[in-house]
Amino acid sequence: MASPPELQHTFSKSASFGGTALHTGDKVTLKVHPAPVDHGIKFKRKDLQDEPTIDAKIENLKTVERATTIGEGSVRVHTVEHILAALSAMGVDNAIVEMDANEPPIGDGSAQPYVDLIKRAGVIAQDESRKFFSVREPIQVEAKTGALLILLPDDKFRISCTQAGPDNRFTQFFSTEITPAVFEREIAPARTFVYYEDVRSLMDKNLIKGGSLENAIVVRGEAVLSKEPLRFGDEFVRHKILDIIGDLALVARRIRGHVVAVKPGHATNADLARLIAREQTRRSALAAPRTMPSGDGGLDADQVMQILPHRFPFLMVDRIISFENETKCIGVKTVTINEPFFQGHFPGHPVMPGVMQVEAMAQVASILLFKLAKTTSRIGYFMSADGVKFRKPVLPGDTIFVHAELTKSRGERLAKAKCHCVVNDAVVSEAELMFTFVDK
Ligand SMILES: [Zn+2]
Repeated sequence: MASPPELQHTFSKSASFGGTALHTGDKVTLKVHPAPVDHGIKFKRKDLQDEPTIDAKIENLKTVERATTIGEGSVRVHTVEHILAALSAMGVDNAIVEMDANEPPIGDGSAQPYVDLIKRAGVIAQDESRKFFSVREPIQVEAKTGALLILLPDDKFRISCTQAGPDNRFTQFFSTEITPAVFEREIAPARTFVYYEDVRSLMDKNLIKGGSLENAIVVRGEAVLSKEPLRFGDEFVRHKILDIIGDLALVARRIRGHVVAVKPGHATNADLARLIAREQTRRSALAAPRTMPSGDGGLDADQVMQILPHRFPFLMVDRIISFENETKCIGVKTVTINEPFFQGHFPGHPVMPGVMQVEAMAQVASILLFKLAKTTSRIGYFMSADGVKFRKPVLPGDTIFVHAELTKSRGERLAKAKCHCVVNDAVVSEAELMFTFVDK
């Protein structure tokens, strides 16, 4: 059975912490504030005129060199990945992150200070359900660097990561489900690490003014230079997982899926976030949730289009003339010579393809299913068509009456419908269709 929906969360009160910005070396104070449902995470530049805000969303991603920078217009915030990781993994959906500089305080290079901050502010549930991205098919990104990320279907949010340094030094693997408890204990304390080869040039370019052994582990050859001993034997791969969580937080939806990552970096993490966001946009465009009209009256063309995601030339229902209780209805489709399929099926001898009649039956049946479910927030996938018969040709000018009757609905996820199409009082085609439902 379906469990109650997970709710969105925000802070119970504001809290702050201060420190040094990694790249500029400036002093910075960061404050978190509660925010309403569906607000998401927004950064606020308190130090700039009009205090502009930036949505923590992938479309605002600017650069991914060494750290993740987002921006809107000319306003930027740098190195957002650690605080975003903490907010996301600790279950904060809505918050304002206010800073008086262009970068959060780096702390000790881990997400520990942010976890402490979040716990000081307290996290409370709000009265709206969380938005998820559920993976249906693998999504994959690769880079010339050897970085590879694959997002696989999973009921939970998991990350399995392999990290390897130059010459495969410090090759480490870690795999875990990401929950607030796991994040706090296993991931948040893992600090940023850098290879000496890389930092030397950055130091020459003066790009890490705030950088020191206070806030990063430096790896030189086989040696690990660090202010305190390693917090985990495999601290590096854990930090890689921390960065993945932070970068994927830019999707602005909770992910139900398993990220399998090999040598990931901010660039590939961001590429994956972009692909997820694109897939989400595609799904949302397919059909926005609507409320179903109740009662036995029919549906006009507008109402049909509010319910069905299909559009010309693939919308095969003009209107619904009647419903009979919850399980039967009749739809109408007027077949005109302008239907695109007649151009090729067949030139000079137009006949409506039988599969288009099956599609019409499926569309009418799915209207019944949506009516039964009283929502269109799920999408029906066609699973099978049995006993399909085409008895008479359907020609331009014909009006098809599409009869659909739900014969079986098992739970909320599976349904069967017996359908037939009638033209001039004669059955022209019939089929028994099976559907499954998935959340959009
Ligand atoms: Zn990092």
